[in-house]
Amino acid sequence: MGDIAIFLLLLAGVAIGFLAGRFSRTRSSKQTHPKDYALNYYKGLSYLFNEQPDGAIDAFIGALEVNSDTLETHLALGNMLRRRGEVTKAIKVHQNLLARPGLNVRQQHESQLELARDYVKSGLLDRAEALLLELVKLSPSYKQQALDHLVEIYQDENEWDKAIAAASTMDEKLFRPRSAATLAELKAHFACEQAEEDLILKSWGKARSHLQEALKFDRESARASLLFAQLELGQGRYREAQAHLHRVPQQDPDYILLGLDMLCECYDKLGDVRGLHKYLLVLLNQHPGNSLVLKVAERLRWTNDDYTAADFIAAHLKERPSIRTLNRLVELHLPYSEGRARENLQLLKQLVDRVVEEKPSFCCNKCGFTGNTMHWLCPGCKAWGTVKPIRGVAGE
Ligand SMILES: [Zn+2]
Repeated sequence: MGDIAIFLLLLAGVAIGFLAGRFSRTRSSKQTHPKDYALNYYKGLSYLFNEQPDGAIDAFIGALEVNSDTLETHLALGNMLRRRGEVTKAIKVHQNLLARPGLNVRQQHESQLELARDYVKSGLLDRAEALLLELVKLSPSYKQQALDHLVEIYQDENEWDKAIAAASTMDEKLFRPRSAATLAELKAHFACEQAEEDLILKSWGKARSHLQEALKFDRESARASLLFAQLELGQGRYREAQAHLHRVPQQDPDYILLGLDMLCECYDKLGDVRGLHKYLLVLLNQHPGNSLVLKVAERLRWTNDDYTAADFIAAHLKERPSIRTLNRLVELHLPYSEGRARENLQLLKQLVDRVVEEKPSFCCNKCGFTGNTMHWLCPGCKAWGTVKPIRGVAGE
């Protein structure tokens, strides 16, 4: 709903509130005279038309009685203010609701949830957390939404234990796939975040248990397998690292390229050069990709020579045109060319380098965020596991 529509709704609500107030007061003869409502209502309008929204909000709060009939109008005003970034005013509106006795328990909880959202938006996370924890305890109707916000707060604060605990309390059936496809996937990412912190601190034991936990949450977590391989490699356990990397193509073939260097290191340390070549060719056949072509070419250059590597790339270029593999082909030919041909190849390489530099390698399939670094949590839309390598002529 647009802001103008909400303002119209608000005005209608104020008018209803004014009439309802007048009607109820003729019956119950409370202290506030209907004239006060009318005065505040017209004052509010005048403030609005004179572009003095601060005064307008105070006048509206004063004009519109808080009860079951007018709650939606108050909430609409508060939410509109929050959306427009006027959070202090939104807080004022929602605090006003909570201070009034005319609402039932469910309506109080709804107002409390909105106030917590205001606090989140204004960065007052401690206050938001306190309100949300209370809702989790007391409000079956708003428990799931409160948990959803708590998970987001803990995620922003890197409090992974609390994030896992809050996510574990959520109802899988009511989970809205906003930040991850499933709750299991979400919890696995939280455990992986803990493991990454452990790896930086060289706390190998803790990293191991957090990765075991991640795979318990989600057996298909390619991120957990990649991190496990990194952990085992660091400990010199190459066979174990290799086993984790072998699981990645089944878990998510998009992430094969993230484990390619580790995979080569495992096979090399185990002295199985032939085994690696065979395995890479199988992978390339099942999951064609430019990183795999370049990796096989690199190995061929090492075990055979530049010409074998260049021939392999040229054969694949015919099947899958790619700027990055073309660039490698030019590089391989450069040392063997002379005179005018060499100059032309150098010129071609400079041009291709520029094109490659300008092209991002990763893209979020949810919001379209692009970059050259892999992010497990998309910086654009804050979704987990949606950033993937870009495919096509200029990408993977
Ligand atoms: Zn995104």
